[in-house]
Amino acid sequence: MQTSGTVAFYTLGCKLNFSETSTIARSFKAAGYVETSFDNPADVYVINTCSVTENADKKFKTIVKQALKYNPEGFLVAVGCYAQLKPEELAALDGVDLVLGANEKFNVVDFIADAKATTAAVHACAIDAVEQYVGSYAIGERTRAFLKVQDGCDYKCTYCTIPLARGISRSDTLENIVRQANEIVDQGIREVVLTGVNIGDFGKGEFGAKKHEHTFYDLVQELDKVPGLARIRISSIEPNLLRQEVIDFVAKSTCFVPHFHIPLQSGSNDILAAMRRRYQRELYEKRVAQIKDRMPNACIGVDVIVGFPGETEAHFLETYHFLQALDISYLHVFPYSERTNTLAASMSNPVPKEVRTKRSKMLRGLSLKKRRAFYESQLGTTQEVLFESENKQGFIHGFTPNYVKVKTFWNPTLCNTIHRVNLTKIAADGLVEFKFVTEAVSTLI
Ligand code: SF4
Repeated sequence: MQTSGTVAFYTLGCKLNFSETSTIARSFKAAGYVETSFDNPADVYVINTCSVTENADKKFKTIVKQALKYNPEGFLVAVGCYAQLKPEELAALDGVDLVLGANEKFNVVDFIADAKATTAAVHACAIDAVEQYVGSYAIGERTRAFLKVQDGCDYKCTYCTIPLARGISRSDTLENIVRQANEIVDQGIREVVLTGVNIGDFGKGEFGAKKHEHTFYDLVQELDKVPGLARIRISSIEPNLLRQEVIDFVAKSTCFVPHFHIPLQSGSNDILAAMRRRYQRELYEKRVAQIKDRMPNACIGVDVIVGFPGETEAHFLETYHFLQALDISYLHVFPYSERTNTLAASMSNPVPKEVRTKRSKMLRGLSLKKRRAFYESQLGTTQEVLFESENKQGFIHGFTPNYVKVKTFWNPTLCNTIHRVNLTKIAADGLVEFKFVTEAVSTLI
């Protein structure tokens, strides 16, 4: 069967998926395959799937059709969360040749070599047999890297399928992560985004070793020492796992940026209980206060779900007013989406879809106000901006450490460089304009 040729990748979902696609791509390269872009004819297509919402499933089917349009003979492989959750459903789709689960996805090259050109092959073991950990990182557009530090989750939030798709909480060794961080720096990348499923639960070993070898705080301290790493961003962390010692460390670190993305999900303690979240809103409020006390300019992003079963208008308004009063910077709003095999999917009092949409709209409106207020609070400050590498309709964008998005006229010499700037005003599109204060603080390749 196929042992070399061209291969194209398409990744759906989270930063963790992107980091894993990169690791899989490196294994193809090592086997002699040549990577091509997904909108080209390829011998092999690998789609790394997501299943966090209904739309993610639908998106997969569209991408399969897209691949077959470019090469109807292409050998199509599905990996990732949707592949682990519903392997037979994917295998039944026209054009899908191989479906690999969470344990098997990193051995795609071998499975393709063994694949017999008959019906679609499925290799996905039961999720409770998924215990191995494979380190990964992805270098997106050469500006920043997504570094996987943890996988799986031991929590049982009633709306979530991730534990069913990725298995138990487990993580890499400190040594391995530091080695990968050095590899990333050697490739000229100065910003790393720590990613995983429940990274605050870092430290649980492979093969079900329940005891924490190390803590997230240990990891943070080790990474802070990596020479040449200008910035480290924590992608998302559970409020009950974001300890004061980590907040204090980030506050004094020159490497960790003052940007926290913390899932809240609801501002109503009744709904938090029904979601089986491990905190009440008072703890969330306290976390925000702890961060702002140590880092008044910190950026705080919030995940929130609207329309969870049983969420009344009163519960929703509790969430709205709670968020309105909190000193946070932006929201990621998710209308509740029933997921198979989750407890919430069979809960009573489902909220009508149009009400979910209306509530999402209200919170997205609030998010715009919060982001604007946060950006206004940063005008006049001097910040170091890491510029991206894409020409966006004649402009180049960049981010400050506290996640303020800036723009200026396209200038290729700015790509992947860090410059000190003074933030001057908010443009009509909501991005921030600035004046340069100094030449490049550090040039990246
Ligand atoms: S913490 Fe909850 S929402 Fe997050 S991955 Fe685990 S089960 Fe899902």
